[in-house]
Amino acid sequence: MDVLITADAICDRIDRMAGEIGAAYHDGRPLTVVGILTGCLVFMADLIRRIDLPVRVAFITASSYRGEATSPGKLLIRDELLPDIRGRHVLLLDDILDTGKTLTRVVAHLLDRGAETVKAGVLLRKVGRQEVPFEPDFVGFTIPDRFVVGYGLDFNDEYRHLPYIGVLDGPPA
Ligand code: 5GP
Ligand code: MG
Repeated sequence: MDVLITADAICDRIDRMAGEIGAAYHDGRPLTVVGILTGCLVFMADLIRRIDLPVRVAFITASSYRGEATSPGKLLIRDELLPDIRGRHVLLLDDILDTGKTLTRVVAHLLDRGAETVKAGVLLRKVGRQEVPFEPDFVGFTIPDRFVVGYGLDFNDEYRHLPYIGVLDGPPA
């Protein structure tokens, strides 16, 4: 495993991101931080503890259909765990911006649920991969087009617990 971003570098960047987020909201209203499971787990836990605003925490699931009967690439959004977000400021968090399809769809879904504003924050943004235009409001690190794991990101549900971002040996395409 090659370490791409060390635990210390992540920690420093998340401190600064929390400051950027605090500075982006001025009206004193609570912020609903919505994480996209499961990759948001570690990033979200570290980030919310540093945000100096009244915060509510919630989760949403977005996964690609894998069944044979469904077309690949379609996204299944599940929001049973989402509280009422009507009229709320929402900060959506995901581990990584790759093609941009997930965040585009989930932002639209949250606006459809009545959120007053939706901003998006990602720990990682891969260069040269984006297929749909989407500009996240907060980005931790821009990384090359490699398959990364750790700090919440998995390969077959493994490696999420690693405290750093690594590149697997013989990574999947
Ligand atoms: P998008 O819809 O932007 O293409 O996909 C984003 C999702 O793809 C992420 O939430 C993540 O689940 C997955 N993904 C994209 N690139 C990587 C990667 O390098 N490593 C891992 N573990 N997941 C990735
Ligand atoms: Mg994901």
